[in-house]
Amino acid sequence: MVISTLRARETLDLSAHKITLIQGDGIGPEISDVCVGALKALNLNVHFDIQEAGVSALDKGLPLLSDDVLKSIQTNKICLKAPLTTPIGKGFRSVNVALRKHFDLYANIRPIKSIDTIKTRFEHVDLIIFRENTEDIYAGIEKQISETEAHSIKIITKEKTERIVRKAFEYAKEHKVNIVTVVTKANIMKLSDGLFLDTARLVQKDYPDIYLEEILVDNMCMQLVMYPEKYNVIVTSNLYGDILSDLAAGLVGGLGLIAGANIGEDVAIFEAVHGTAPDIAGEDKANPTALLNACVMMLEHMNETEKANILEQSIFKVLEDPKNFTQDLGGTAKTSDYKKRLIQEIQSHG
Ligand code: NAD
Repeated sequence: MVISTLRARETLDLSAHKITLIQGDGIGPEISDVCVGALKALNLNVHFDIQEAGVSALDKGLPLLSDDVLKSIQTNKICLKAPLTTPIGKGFRSVNVALRKHFDLYANIRPIKSIDTIKTRFEHVDLIIFRENTEDIYAGIEKQISETEAHSIKIITKEKTERIVRKAFEYAKEHKVNIVTVVTKANIMKLSDGLFLDTARLVQKDYPDIYLEEILVDNMCMQLVMYPEKYNVIVTSNLYGDILSDLAAGLVGGLGLIAGANIGEDVAIFEAVHGTAPDIAGEDKANPTALLNACVMMLEHMNETEKANILEQSIFKVLEDPKNFTQDLGGTAKTSDYKKRLIQEIQSHG
């Protein structure tokens, strides 16, 4: 995966990593357990600072997102977070959105790549989505005008657009990709998406060797399901990035595989793109690959490149054999079977 531009800090004390671990709700504890097993098998000198959030915190009489959790993440700077449930319709704000806002985790980076053994209708998908993570319609500015009318406000600023677009261009430069695709709906939202597009054009001037390809979001959806292999680095705003990354996950085998990094200047949170999968929680059926891929990104961020490579290769090796496929991939393996195979594979690297 090698996402070295993700690094928020250049130096870290490698003698002992301290990571805030949120084990999450639903399938969260099951897939976190696989990740902890894998990180331990890598012989990484790591200390997990386990924190409770989400519904499992509420059930223990704790807040959905407590100051202790925020303090732990602020101190450790790195967090591995399994999915969390935000109760619907009880006045709770999404914990995920709150964390992104609190730590100004402006870059949501989601790599999506075909795996040879996982057969879908598409091959050779290898793209990475840079999604602005703090504004747009997700800014949470909504107003009830009357009983029959509600408004949501879309916020786009030049400053926040510039930093995500620059992140995408820096990645393209480092990985020798000569096209960055910017996705908007600037033909309709001429002011807000127009500003996003104009800012992308401005940033491109600093990267004369990289072409800025401009595409509207509806067309992008069609292009991705017809010619996904044509795209590589995509940059977009919050809502389109959310939708496009789920769509792209479907091209390569589903949500059980895809990870996301949430990167700020100081703090980074690594997670799976999927949710808590309440329909299979506690049944030993969850696919842990997405959260494991989040661990790969986290290790790269920590400059633990060798360990990241071992983990990534071990995941590929496990997925080479359909006997290790969990139910979502059409197999019958349990989460615990996958864990056992993965740990054997990691240990075979000595
Ligand atoms: P979901 O991603 O939890 O589930 C969608 C479908 O995908 C389900 O059928 C589920 O069984 C399957 N699935 C998801 N992950 C899987 C995995 N690792 N292995 C096997 N199958 C998997 O989406 P949802 O049902 O819309 O949301 C459920 C809950 O998750 C909601 O409370 C939502 O708020 C929360 N959520 C949290 C996050 C997060 O914490 N980052 C993200 C999305 C949704």
